[in-house]
Amino acid sequence: MTRYDVVVIGAGLGGLTAGAILAREGCKVLVIERSNSVGGAASTYKVGDLFVEGSLHETSDPRHPGDPKHSPLTRSGVIDTVTWVPSSDLYEVRGGPIATPLTLPASFIGARDALIGRFPEARGGIEQILREIEQIAVAASAPGVNIFDKSPEGFGADWSLSLQQKLDKVFGSNEAVKCALCANLAYYHDDPATLWWVLFAVAQGSYLSNGACYVKGGSQRLSSALARAIKQAGSDVILRRNVRTIAPGPGGTHVVTHTAKDGSDPQSVEAVSVVSNAAPETTAALLPDAGATTLRDHYAKLAPSISLFALTLGLSKSPREFGVTGYSTQILPPWMTKLSDYAQGTTLMSNEPADRMPPLAMVDYAAIDAGVPAPPYVLSIFGPDRLSNWDGSDIDLYRARRERWQAAIIATLDGHYPGLAGAVTAASFNTALSVQQYLNAPLGAVYGFAPLPPSAGQRAPTRSPRTPVAGLYLSSAYANFGGYTGVIQGAAMCADMILGEP
Ligand SMILES: Cc1cc2nc3c(=O)[nH]c(=O)nc-3n(C[C@H](O)[C@H](O)[C@H](O)COP(=O)(O)OP(=O)(O)OC[C@H]3O[C@@H](n4cnc5c(N)ncnc54)[C@H](O)[C@@H]3O)c2cc1C
Repeated sequence: MTRYDVVVIGAGLGGLTAGAILAREGCKVLVIERSNSVGGAASTYKVGDLFVEGSLHETSDPRHPGDPKHSPLTRSGVIDTVTWVPSSDLYEVRGGPIATPLTLPASFIGARDALIGRFPEARGGIEQILREIEQIAVAASAPGVNIFDKSPEGFGADWSLSLQQKLDKVFGSNEAVKCALCANLAYYHDDPATLWWVLFAVAQGSYLSNGACYVKGGSQRLSSALARAIKQAGSDVILRRNVRTIAPGPGGTHVVTHTAKDGSDPQSVEAVSVVSNAAPETTAALLPDAGATTLRDHYAKLAPSISLFALTLGLSKSPREFGVTGYSTQILPPWMTKLSDYAQGTTLMSNEPADRMPPLAMVDYAAIDAGVPAPPYVLSIFGPDRLSNWDGSDIDLYRARRERWQAAIIATLDGHYPGLAGAVTAASFNTALSVQQYLNAPLGAVYGFAPLPPSAGQRAPTRSPRTPVAGLYLSSAYANFGGYTGVIQGAAMCADMILGEP
């Protein structure tokens, strides 16, 4: 049986980044992925001639030395092997209580000017909240800081508040300014009342400090570069192999058994440490009973994050021709009069499309030098979703309802951008059910655990790559917070814990 220093279960961003750092530090690493390619959510693929980006709309620019991804991606050896394409704006927001579309630049100065220009009556609050967001983002990006175990003093007096509580305190009943500042809520969660203010400040602050960007050619380029870095360091990544069990091995090691997709051809390797890129629930199912119970109990109180639906459209003409003006656009529905209404969008797809549409986050890859092939010109639209919205037991019924929602989304876009519907030549629609199936993600969660505030009674400090099972670590959205920034930062924390073991 081959012995490895570290076996990594899953080749999503969390598994690959931890694997690359460890391999480049001299560990003998094996990454085992059940799918046909590396990347997990950070993947791209083709449906006919339509290019589909599995996840990435925007991430903060990791080339900025203060960005939480800068050090992990430098240590992984990939920061300069992919091209980061900046978008000058974080988003344009339209609809809801925003009277006419407003562009929010991806910088503190630009955002301040844009918000004060539109909401001069809220100048004091805008200056205050942007100052606090910047302070929190800077504090969180200091080396070795894990926001989940930082003492409250580091992050201001409002450390325990939800985003809603913080915004109410600063802006009172001015809902338009709240929506303008937080229109990309689905990047983190669906409900400001249960989104931790500090987590919002860290993530939104990274965009405003470091700028927003896309990986030229698609997120697969980043994932593939990480896999190459692992192999160049003398370690290995294997595909189409499903990890089935983690059992105790000799001398406190672990024996990891993986099979072909159909369960055939079992093979076992020995590992001093095991890193799971899979969800804790999925990982628990691989352990012997006692370990499984320990792991499940440890995370029992933490709720999973939201899921997302993602509709990719191929257009015969550039979206710009129909009036799409920027790279990223947040379309708030007309029924949304206050930011807290956003949460109501998450369950809409449990029914037939009617008069209410969920909030939509849209990206036009042709608006920047994204390296996404065209035509067809790719528009990616996502919004909050939930596994319970979809019943996959009758696949024909599932597909038919999904098609009706696709038509309703296209009609909504056509309302904003007349003529766009007629230019749609291709489409691919993933729901929470697709996320669950493709990523082996319980409940289709895309951001790990829900980012609840400490005031919700579920204190955050349980988030860490360390698990209660000796020698087992997490490197995924569940180890820190979700999205590229949280996952990549958490992966470095995971690697450092293992490197720090005697
Ligand atoms: C539609 C969509 C849009 C998004 N947009 C953005 C965005 O614009 N910006 C941003 O920052 N984030 C975005 N995200 C979130 C981000 O993509 C995820 O939070 C992040 O990629 C999760 O990475 P991960 O490594 O934790 O897990 P995953 O990507 O889920 O990877 C886990 C991997 O483990 C593998 N695995 C599981 N079980 C096993 C097993 N038993 N054996 C072997 N392999 C196994 C899976 O196949 C998978 O490859 C988006 C997500 C989605 C779905």
